[in-house]
Amino acid sequence: MECRILSIQSHVVRGYVGNKSATFPLQVLGFEVDSINSVQFSNHTGWFCLFRVERNPKMDTVPHSYIWYCKDKSFLEVVVSIIQELKKATPGLVYVCDPVMGDHGLLYVPENLLPVYKNEVVPLADILTPNQFEAELLTGRKIKTEDDAVEVMDLLHEMGPDTVVLTSTDLPSKHGDQFLVALGSQKTNGTSSSQKICMDIPQVDAVFVGTGDLFAAMLLAWTHHHPKDLKTAFEKTVSVMQHVVKRTFTYANEMAGPGNKPSAAQLELRMIQSKADIENPSVVVEAKVL
Ligand code: ADP
Ligand code: PLP
Ligand code: ZN
Repeated sequence: MECRILSIQSHVVRGYVGNKSATFPLQVLGFEVDSINSVQFSNHTGWFCLFRVERNPKMDTVPHSYIWYCKDKSFLEVVVSIIQELKKATPGLVYVCDPVMGDHGLLYVPENLLPVYKNEVVPLADILTPNQFEAELLTGRKIKTEDDAVEVMDLLHEMGPDTVVLTSTDLPSKHGDQFLVALGSQKTNGTSSSQKICMDIPQVDAVFVGTGDLFAAMLLAWTHHHPKDLKTAFEKTVSVMQHVVKRTFTYANEMAGPGNKPSAAQLELRMIQSKADIENPSVVVEAKVL
């Protein structure tokens, strides 16, 4: 059966964030992708310069699923009403929300978006993919231990979504500081219980941009194939991420030359070169059931 995705995210002329980070990998996996560009930039904000090209929210299609990124309250509210209407009109529609608000204590959207996310957006989401900072903002709880993370994911379930994934946290990994910890929780059908999983992800020594967007896209794809098996969907998602960031890192270092740190431009995700890994990811990281 054809699966159609409406992806509402930013667009960049050069490089890979937002829709540029999600569309190709989803198409490679066989999904039809309709995209709305919430903003159009020359490149992502980690570069030294940025041009705003145009803004053109337009909508004329019935989607299966959603992902998005947004910086503007009125636009966020318009999208909320669109999701509400589409959910009514399309039974079975899955809405994936990456509540892009900030990272590591830094808010990079206006503060007035937070109540809209909390009260209107998150309650509509089926799958939510915040990082630690975003999960803390949404719940008002700090995450200092694994137990805190579990509690925060339960609070997020109470707000709406049946599947919650904390894409990256600062929690210490049992394997050492070369690993970053991600956690997930999926409600068990029709009950108040949930399966909680945790993953220690080998960390590559560079800052990548667009990885959160690729993560959300891959989680959407793999939960579509494994709707009741978050462990498998999570493992495939994180394995794609590993293949892509490692390849990107190798290429970037080659371009930078010995002894030089790669630039943001050199660290743009090597998406096309990773096509085979996206299509058929060998599982290189295993999730632990908590
Ligand atoms: P967010 O945008 O939600 O803050 P990140 O982009 O930090 O999320 O991370 C999303 C995913 O991308 C992580 O779960 C991980 O799989 C991958 N990732 C990002 N940065 C790195 C890195 N430096 N090393 C390894 N994996 C990374
Ligand atoms: N969209 C734009 C235009 C950006 O500049 C960024 C980050 O710089 C993002 C989205 C988010 O990227 P990530 O997937 O790393 O969270
Ligand atoms: Zn993010």
